[in-house]
Amino acid sequence: MARYTGALCRLCRREGEKLFLKGSRCYTDKCGVEKRKYAPGQHGQSRGKLSDYGIQLREKQKVRRIYGVMEDQFRIYFKKASSMKGITGEVLLQILERRLDNIVYRMGFASNRREARQLVRHGHFLVNGRSADIPSYLLRPGDVVEVRESSRQLQAISESLSMAEHKGFPEWIELDMQGMKGKLVRVPSREEIQLPVQEQLIVEFYSK
Ligand code: SF4
Repeated sequence: MARYTGALCRLCRREGEKLFLKGSRCYTDKCGVEKRKYAPGQHGQSRGKLSDYGIQLREKQKVRRIYGVMEDQFRIYFKKASSMKGITGEVLLQILERRLDNIVYRMGFASNRREARQLVRHGHFLVNGRSADIPSYLLRPGDVVEVRESSRQLQAISESLSMAEHKGFPEWIELDMQGMKGKLVRVPSREEIQLPVQEQLIVEFYSK
């Protein structure tokens, strides 16, 4: 499946804010946005005011980049969200939160979503006791994600877990740190998805 392989800090700089794509580095002064507070590229420092369309486009790109989803897949999620009950923008974020790679990240088994995606692809997790190596797999409330027995010694996972313990876990996830497993208790509400995004702008973008 296609995925973005370029520099991650460039994506944050393009959006003009921290998207926290790199884990612990994002909290240090090595952060690309901290060092260079302008968009990348030749005209990065001379960009003018955005049109309404430009603002909507940037918001869509920002969310896509946070979750590491390519355009086609993102559009599919939007269509799915539009056909479901509820406020489309919120439902869209709830679908993105239910992705297996995101849940692995939220449970603290990886320090960022990109790392989570790689760990999932390499087969380090089980969902409800069965192998699961598809990052886009959508979990349902009650589903249990666990680190495969043979992967429990992986340094990347244990380091991420102790870092996450420091920060705390979302209330909609129940974590058993000793057992290296967690349960998706419920789909998070919009307030619980603490992202500085205006999802309504994405709805407006796709409604044109
Ligand atoms: Fe974004 Fe993290 Fe890079 Fe900072 S260090 S620019 S937050 S990916």
